[in-house]
Amino acid sequence: MHIFSKKVDLSNHLKENNLDKSSVGFVPTMGALHAGHLSLLKKSIENNAATIISIFVNPTQFNNPEDLKKYPRTLESDVEKIKTISEKILVYAPTIEDIYEGNTKSEHYNFDGLENQMEGKFRPGHFDGVGTVVKRLFEIVNPTNAYFGEKDFQQLQIVKKLVEKEKLSVTIIGCPIFREKNGLAMSSRNERLSENEKKEASIIFKTLNEAKILFGTKSAKEVAKYVTKSFSNHPIFELEYFEIADEASLLTCKRKNKKKKYRAFIAVFVNKIRLIDTISLN
Ligand code: AMP
Repeated sequence: MHIFSKKVDLSNHLKENNLDKSSVGFVPTMGALHAGHLSLLKKSIENNAATIISIFVNPTQFNNPEDLKKYPRTLESDVEKIKTISEKILVYAPTIEDIYEGNTKSEHYNFDGLENQMEGKFRPGHFDGVGTVVKRLFEIVNPTNAYFGEKDFQQLQIVKKLVEKEKLSVTIIGCPIFREKNGLAMSSRNERLSENEKKEASIIFKTLNEAKILFGTKSAKEVAKYVTKSFSNHPIFELEYFEIADEASLLTCKRKNKKKKYRAFIAVFVNKIRLIDTISLN
């Protein structure tokens, strides 16, 4: 199993093994791997000669220093999990220096307004950090295909926009959300929840499913009202936002248009731990 902490070593390995001339699949992550991440790796292996996973907790995409500090870092057990999929997967786990070269700052991006909705509103600077790190990682790895989860649907749309605007030669592939048995979307942040909080957090996906049914007959505004009320009855949750938006523009649905595809998006705090989820509505 090859684990690289320096981009130069990864590049040399790719060149020496002629992997730079074959199809390379890339799965960028922040580690604390779970079955959701592993599903992305499996998809990459099926469709590429080589697969690279990056494990890097990117400081520039955190707007909350406490969240950055407490983000789980579990490289050893991550590597064990990757091995269960394939020993051939290349792991790139760089230092901050290797990515930022002494200047740990974001570039500023215009993603045609995608960056101003939802996560962008509540996490100022977040998508500049995401754009910056994803572009650098793409330059280092030079992937043919890159795999991103629909769990972070806004991020997926933003990465597609980044590729379009910067004319990068990589295909972005969106992958379905992996969930716990109780419906809770798998997330590295779930590691910070107590067993009881994990159990209670099933309300997030349950409410999204209810919202989906309601959206068949009610307006987006009425559905949002219902969701807000559902969370106000649960003292351990603090709803940050619930939004029904057009999948392409991510603009809030004001009046339903049959030609558009809509999606519900939610962010909820459980004991200061921020969880997000999303569901397709039509
Ligand atoms: P992260 O480590 O949270 O930055 O996630 C790395 C990649 O895994 C991103 O593309 C995420 O959207 C994706 N991902 C995270 N959680 C899940 C999940 N539950 N199901 C599918 N993909 C996921």
